[in-house]
Amino acid sequence: KAPASLLAPADLFGPRRKASKGFDLSDARVIETIEVACEGVIPDAAPITVSAATGTALTVTNPATGAAVAQVIEADAATVARALDDARVWDAPAAERAAVLRRAADLYEETFGQIFATLAAEAGKSWGDAVGELREACDFLRYYAAEGESSAAAPRGIIAAISPWNFPLAIFTGQISAALMAGNAVLAKPAEATPLIAAIAVRLLHAAGVPAAALQLLPGPGAVVGTAITSDPRVKGVVFTGSTATAQRIAAVMADTLEPGTPLIAETGGLNAMIVDSTALPEQAVRDIVASAFRSAGQRCSALRCLYVQEDIAPHLLAMVKGAMDELKLGDPRALVTDVGPVIDARAQAGILDYVAAREGAVLHRTAAPAEGTFVAPVMLKVSGIADLEREVFGPVLHVATFRAGEIGAVIEAVNARGYGLTFGLHSRIDARVQEVAEAIRVGNTYVNRNQIGAVVGSQPFGGEGLSGTGPKAGGPLYLARFFAPEPVAAPN
Ligand code: NAP
Repeated sequence: KAPASLLAPADLFGPRRKASKGFDLSDARVIETIEVACEGVIPDAAPITVSAATGTALTVTNPATGAAVAQVIEADAATVARALDDARVWDAPAAERAAVLRRAADLYEETFGQIFATLAAEAGKSWGDAVGELREACDFLRYYAAEGESSAAAPRGIIAAISPWNFPLAIFTGQISAALMAGNAVLAKPAEATPLIAAIAVRLLHAAGVPAAALQLLPGPGAVVGTAITSDPRVKGVVFTGSTATAQRIAAVMADTLEPGTPLIAETGGLNAMIVDSTALPEQAVRDIVASAFRSAGQRCSALRCLYVQEDIAPHLLAMVKGAMDELKLGDPRALVTDVGPVIDARAQAGILDYVAAREGAVLHRTAAPAEGTFVAPVMLKVSGIADLEREVFGPVLHVATFRAGEIGAVIEAVNARGYGLTFGLHSRIDARVQEVAEAIRVGNTYVNRNQIGAVVGSQPFGGEGLSGTGPKAGGPLYLARFFAPEPVAAPN
């Protein structure tokens, strides 16, 4: 077996962040609260109702077990039309809006048991990931409250907020909290796979004091609800996080239907690379490679997709990565020992497995996955470089290439030429090289000698360029401004 013994299994993903109130997963009372929330059906949260209760019923299932988690009434065209009619901007003073968002953050924290249980049951999140996600959601609420509380700018009007299933609480909350802090009316469409956690979040935001007409939840399919809320001329801005292809579709619809100049803030996919040169610390690089590629079952937009290892250290380093992969525990995300949960659904699982099956000859290493549930075994595939990656595969698939001394410039060129620009990782102990690479690489977030996931609101604004997003970066000082109406230009005298 490869020499993974250098790494204790619990350390594979690095230290786990504590959620806001300091509760962590070694606290027995925390575990008890979560376990109570997990028992059977998640209490007090189903079925979801939308502003008008017309639409189709959908059963949300647990990806690890296939068990029903909730019944949701999805919005239909009539419900969306009614929500657009009902939407009203939030005309309270900015300081009051900020106080409400801070209260919402407190309520999120108090509801941690139900939130962790829902994230595990609906989205397959491990406890470590659920802690990080709650933390990030609360950070967004408090950060935008602080950024906007003394602003006197006017809102744009109705904002459509469309979010993905992979951060169904944090990204959902981040989009909404910025739009609300600017006083807009928000129509929030969560991903079809994760409406329950969205419903809990909206319930808490309303309980904190956000007016019902300023925040309406519209669960339903992208093709129906998403299209409807990005094509109604009353909508004055769209904030979207999801795949590049969907963002392109939305941009085309908006161009045909909305007022010219209506902003689309899009955070999209990536083909993220990491370079490990021969001066890197192997144990640290291995830990960061495994966390970047396989944490959250590779279902992070920031995840490492293409690793470049300097040829002379490749045999040793990759043997260690293989050993570390074998230490990963796949299983029920509700078990504390689980490192890697399921992928989101059977369709995603089949897509990833088909992709790997078509490249069977390139498999360098693969671990085992549980037979039940939508699990995918972490796998490492040999490629000649990032140009071989046809698309973002949203799962635990790590592509590996090697380079020779003197070829780093060519690697950077190849990564830039691929057109995405989300995250990039570099493991090197040559300061001048770090400087040079950081300047040449065209991505939103560069990480040096650490993993390349888990940006922190406020201190590491997150967002990409090129095919990876429009900017401004979420959790950064430029984001909120996009949600205010532009200042009127003074007429010339
Ligand atoms: P997705 O398929 O693009 O869906 C994202 C959202 O768009 C969902 O709510 C979806 O609804 C909706 N949608 C689909 N078609 C639409 C349409 N025609 N009009 C309006 N809305 C539509 O992405 P995903 O699979 O949920 O999420 C994974 C992707 O998100 C990956 O590419 C990942 O890299 C990216 N991501 C990026 C960031 C970032 O910050 N850059 C963060 C997280 C994720 P349905 O669920 O009903 O289809």
